[in-house]
Amino acid sequence: MGNIFADTEIDRNLLRKKSNFSRILDLLRKQGALSKLDIAKLTRMNTSSVGTLVDELIREGYINEIGPGSSTGGRRPVLLELNPHACYIIGVDFEATSIMAVLVNFGAQIIKERKASINPKDDKLTIVRKINDTIRSVIEKDKEKIIGIGVGVPGIVDTKKGIGLYYNGLPNWKDVPIRDFIQMEFSLPTYLEKNIRSMALAERYFGVGKNYNNFICLGVRSGMALGIIIDGKLYKGSSETAGEIAHFVVESNGPKCQCGQKGCLQIYSSGKGILERIRKAKGELKDISIKNKIEKEKSVSLWEIVRAARNGDRLCQGLLKEAMQYIGKAVAEIVDVINPELIIVAGGLTLAGKEYFTLMEEEIKRKSVNMATRALRIEKSQLGEYAGAYGAAAAVLMEKVGAPY
Ligand SMILES: [Zn+2]
Repeated sequence: MGNIFADTEIDRNLLRKKSNFSRILDLLRKQGALSKLDIAKLTRMNTSSVGTLVDELIREGYINEIGPGSSTGGRRPVLLELNPHACYIIGVDFEATSIMAVLVNFGAQIIKERKASINPKDDKLTIVRKINDTIRSVIEKDKEKIIGIGVGVPGIVDTKKGIGLYYNGLPNWKDVPIRDFIQMEFSLPTYLEKNIRSMALAERYFGVGKNYNNFICLGVRSGMALGIIIDGKLYKGSSETAGEIAHFVVESNGPKCQCGQKGCLQIYSSGKGILERIRKAKGELKDISIKNKIEKEKSVSLWEIVRAARNGDRLCQGLLKEAMQYIGKAVAEIVDVINPELIIVAGGLTLAGKEYFTLMEEEIKRKSVNMATRALRIEKSQLGEYAGAYGAAAAVLMEKVGAPY
């Protein structure tokens, strides 16, 4: 792989060229194989510029020429596609009890994956060591093709300084210069993103958000957050706290939240909140596996809770219905403010059946401005439990190869 995306001094022509490279690569990522003529039409660039740019991308190994495509007459055009082996990226995602690391190629295929567990009581250096061990276990022999490591960090993160500031799921996780720790260990450029928010980036690059420029992605697992994509880019806010939806008050007389307010969304709709409600009503719980885990004080994921609802557990079904209605109530307000084209739901809730999503949708339609919901689509993420790790990998692409168009 060449260095056409290497950092250079600010030169307007060069920046334009880099952005045109990104545009072509993004188009091939979204649409699959295309001819030079297709690319020229879709980007509205002239054919000779496209020719020059494409030749350079081929020379640098980012795209491949494949056999001729179909033609409406005359010579059949040569098709171009992304070279999936052009480079590799490591994506890491962790929260209170687990770490996942993936090695993905330029074509977004997972080449290798590893999971490890964290004890929430671990001190911060132990956690960093476990993260590094998990990263090491996905590094393949051709390390020189890896362009960077993306890390999805839970809680409050300073992505510019590379510091994990605070996360209430890990009591000892305070002011951790995690980027430096990882960068020093592997000598690879390392980028941080807030873990649940990065799921929006994953959808933008690899998932159902590929063809949308304005959408929100609601990630729900133990915690919950929104990723907001505006004009194709992840909106972080001035202090990087954009997308915090967990403490929206949805029930003014609800139970007290750790933040001091009453009736926050996370009490009803996050994995942690739902599990707490199950614990309180465990006499009604039928699902044996969750019952056992609660008795042994083990953590239960939102995936497991939704699976129990699907298998007929009435308590889980009831709580899941409420969770979806409250999400609808909170998301309706975001829809009014941002007016997205699409809402993507990622994380454990994607296992829930249509009837639950209808509850959420009805609530959004009931509460928000009619015009804002007329063309609004709601989709489930297809990235499953990998959404966070893919998101961390997408953060590397964003920095190294450019934002999608
Ligand atoms: Zn709260």
